Amino acid sequence: MSLVNQYLRSKELYTKALTLIPGGVNSPVRAFKGVGGTPVFIKSANGAYISDEDGNSYIDYVGAWGPMILGHAHPKISSALKAQIDLGIAYGAPTALEVSLAEKICALMPSIELVRLVNSGTEATMSAIRVARGFTGREKVIKFEGGYHGHVDSLLVKAGSGALTFGFPDSAGIPSATAAETFVLPYNNEMALSLMFEKYGHEIACVIVEPVAGNMNCVPPVDGFLQKLRRITSQYGSLLIFDEVMTGFRVALGGAQSVYDVKPDLTTLGKVIGGGLPIGAFGGRKDIMSMLAPIGPVYQAGTLSGNPLAVTAGLVMLEEISQPGFYSQLAKQTQKLLLGLKARADAASIPFSYTQVGGMFGCYFNDERNIQSYEQVMKTDVATFQKYYHLMLDQGVYFAPSAYEAGFMSAAHGDGEIEKTLNAAESAFAQLHS
Ligand SMILES: *Cc1c(COP(=O)(O)O)cnc(C)c1O
Repeated sequence: MSLVNQYLRSKELYTKALTLIPGGVNSPVRAFKGVGGTPVFIKSANGAYISDEDGNSYIDYVGAWGPMILGHAHPKISSALKAQIDLGIAYGAPTALEVSLAEKICALMPSIELVRLVNSGTEATMSAIRVARGFTGREKVIKFEGGYHGHVDSLLVKAGSGALTFGFPDSAGIPSATAAETFVLPYNNEMALSLMFEKYGHEIACVIVEPVAGNMNCVPPVDGFLQKLRRITSQYGSLLIFDEVMTGFRVALGGAQSVYDVKPDLTTLGKVIGGGLPIGAFGGRKDIMSMLAPIGPVYQAGTLSGNPLAVTAGLVMLEEISQPGFYSQLAKQTQKLLLGLKARADAASIPFSYTQVGGMFGCYFNDERNIQSYEQVMKTDVATFQKYYHLMLDQGVYFAPSAYEAGFMSAAHGDGEIEKTLNAAESAFAQLHS
């Protein structure tokens, strides 16, 4: 659990990457700007562990930002992929595989009657918004502060995580006319929602929400919030989109919509459904999804959509996570980790709180007892998190390199990994005082 070789090779690679790739990374949060220092460059991964270019090994609580819920290099996914590779890796034509995946998704999430596969979560939300506008004939969209729905122009307004980490909630390069079509409301605030609908209800095409906010750390919905969203959108003829790119097949087999028993009109998926390969999906009510080309007037397409490799990984993934007891075990392990961290933080008198829904969690260096809002998330002590982050990294524990990202448990994290993590945390908490 100690570093064999510091981060020499990672530093070398980062220096070179900076000359070739903007910021040295292909997705901003990876650059470690949220914690300082040099990002570690990963060479391989197995089970609960990832290993870097310097030969250091880490217990991984990022899991590729959610998809690796079975752990890395899962043997069944690996062998299915190897077999598929020999059959060809892209055809640009329909396959039996994608029919099976669609069937599975529709069976596991009954609100989804028709589903279309895309290549990323961003594509899924972008397309879902387009369908919602096409179906309702309206243009305005409501999202929530700190909610991230991919880097879609109209949704990059007060978006969480990456944007929060870099301190600019809105991206440059987005036409003001596009941004003006998006209303941003405080998450978990029923009053603000009512006021907005009273004023603009009949112009609202859709509300898009992460049913458990996972891109401003992890903030579960308060009792009644999602139900209120369901009622008010139905009342005004607006569509309700659950962005379950993160929560789908992560918080429960049926997603957050099964946990909170709310049926959205449309759902977006990604991350877990591709088992680590690039994939996304959006689906929902048959009458709405029938707006899509080639049967309807809303255009949407993708050269590699339904890619046989991604779909193969997704099929094995959904089969594995459908095993009885999978999610109760995942939630139990997650809780074990969080209770352990809390106990050790308390013992060291470090202000610490946490949230959990199934296999996703949030840790906060603050005294807030019940984290429900963006404001409370903002009260986390970022400087303490940054110190803690590096103390954990140096002991072989890899968390997301930002105080505003959620954490992810996998089925490969056993009691041994959790104990090692807690021992490392105990030592880190002790050093935070000095
Ligand atoms: C990750 C994420 C997205 C974007 O997915 P990409 O595959 O990165 O484009 C959208 N919505 C939510 C809730 C996410 O967590």
